[in-house]
Amino acid sequence: MEDKIKGINTICTHVGEIEDKQFGGAISPIYTSTSYAYIDAEISRYPRYSNTPNQEYLCKKIAALEETETAMILGSGMAAISTTLLSLLSSGDHILFQNDIYGGTRNLAEAQFDRYGIEFSFTEGLEVSDFEKEIRDNTKVIYIESPSNPILKIVDIKAVAQLAKSRNILSAIDNTFATPVIQKPSTMGIDIVLHSATKYFGGHSDICAGAVATSEDLKKTIWSLSKNLGGSLSDYTVWLLERSMKTLVIRVKAQQENAMKLSKYLYDHNLTKTVYYPGLTTHENHDLAKRQMNGFGAMMSFEFDDSIDVNSFLKSLELIKPSMSLAGVESTMLVPAETSHHLLKQEDRLKQGITDNLIRFSVGIEDTEDIIQDIEQAIVKATNK
Ligand SMILES: *Cc1c(COP(=O)(O)O)cnc(C)c1O
Repeated sequence: MEDKIKGINTICTHVGEIEDKQFGGAISPIYTSTSYAYIDAEISRYPRYSNTPNQEYLCKKIAALEETETAMILGSGMAAISTTLLSLLSSGDHILFQNDIYGGTRNLAEAQFDRYGIEFSFTEGLEVSDFEKEIRDNTKVIYIESPSNPILKIVDIKAVAQLAKSRNILSAIDNTFATPVIQKPSTMGIDIVLHSATKYFGGHSDICAGAVATSEDLKKTIWSLSKNLGGSLSDYTVWLLERSMKTLVIRVKAQQENAMKLSKYLYDHNLTKTVYYPGLTTHENHDLAKRQMNGFGAMMSFEFDDSIDVNSFLKSLELIKPSMSLAGVESTMLVPAETSHHLLKQEDRLKQGITDNLIRFSVGIEDTEDIIQDIEQAIVKATNK
């Protein structure tokens, strides 16, 4: 049956279900064993090998969503990213990163790669020519993130994948912000699709997990290191993640519909200076976003003009939570310079457009009228008199 499923909602609800043969329950049972029979068994199951029944079956759902041969889940987005990159890169290799990426990924390279003799560099801009220029003889991986965190920049995924392929370089993307609901990078030629499942896959701000969707071959390489590093995901969390992913499509669609409305509201507001949202026709890559995405996602960033004190604005919010992380069903806001990107040098932040006053807005599923009302009342309290 699973092979016949095509629709993305049906994939979310049904692919990767474990049938409860014992009791006929409607949902997947949870298997928490850390010990499995091995005599005459086809595979040796063990949680750290990421192949317990719940781990194995959830990967089917993720692979079906991303249209890759297979997938793997790990203990966090960074576990997925670090395990993948360290498994593909050896001493003397080079990785080329897009200049505007998640702060934790940038910090992984800056804090750790020197010790392993792994060279890394960042592109100047985001045109394909910016990537091409930076390719070295020893470049093994090109790594992109589109839309990027927190400025929502858009990269031409297909063009970068083609460039990588033509030079025999692997391409990887962090697809956390878009999710497969909005774009499937493997269908555009990308080799490795990474996720912080802590975000939209989980969607309720109560799960920390990561995922890699890729080919069987690459998974073997990544898996052999992941067994050594041991960043596996607990079966309790796997089970909760499977439950959460059933509503992935309807959550993301509702969130991006709200984001479209709220981005227009913020853009039209006389106290905002800038709004970064790919759905706005004023976004520098709006046309590209329209071409390669199915919708524009539910993340945006914006700046007020100087009449608003950002700190008191965030403290005055009553409904929107000024809190870390993103992608939950509840709306949240934060200042990246103080949180997700605080490890970067200020000069690097400014180069990316991350000013100290930039607010990142993760739009939830609430009614937009209530969100707008909350923003308005917080603005009144935060206006410098
Ligand atoms: C949060 C995030 C990560 C890291 O994921 P964790 O689950 O926190 O380890 C990576 N990439 C992006 C785009 C993120 O937002």
